[in-house]
Amino acid sequence: MEELKKYLQSNDISPSYHRIKILEFLRNNRIHPNVDVIYRALEESIPTLSKTTVYNTLNLFSEKGLVAQLSIEENESRYDINTSPHGHFKCTRCGKIYDVEVSNALEALQQIGDHFITEYQINMKGICNSCNTSPKKN
Ligand SMILES: [Zn+2]
Ligand SMILES: [Zn+2]
Repeated sequence: MEELKKYLQSNDISPSYHRIKILEFLRNNRIHPNVDVIYRALEESIPTLSKTTVYNTLNLFSEKGLVAQLSIEENESRYDINTSPHGHFKCTRCGKIYDVEVSNALEALQQIGDHFITEYQINMKGICNSCNTSPKKN
């Protein structure tokens, strides 16, 4: 708790109880949640929490660079506490979003052309390993 508080303060965010709990949830649950998922997970233990607070907190975190907003979904924002460069793979069957190591691909990208990349998103879709376990026919 104290560490989370200091982390928020060092990012110019005043460490309210709600903000600390949301940060804690994001750190402990690497599932790229949306506002609803976070709200539902915390509402029971924090009765004073509102969906608007979750939404505003995520906006603030994103402004300060603490979380990344993912564009892998067409109609909702997902949030990622892991802001280091990586891609995302979404399983179209179970809806899970996996982190994908893409540093090799990025190195290749940086050698192409004269443009300077400041931001990018790498999104992939398919069937994940755990969904793709239908028994093989002999
Ligand atoms: Zn799946
Ligand atoms: Zn991620």
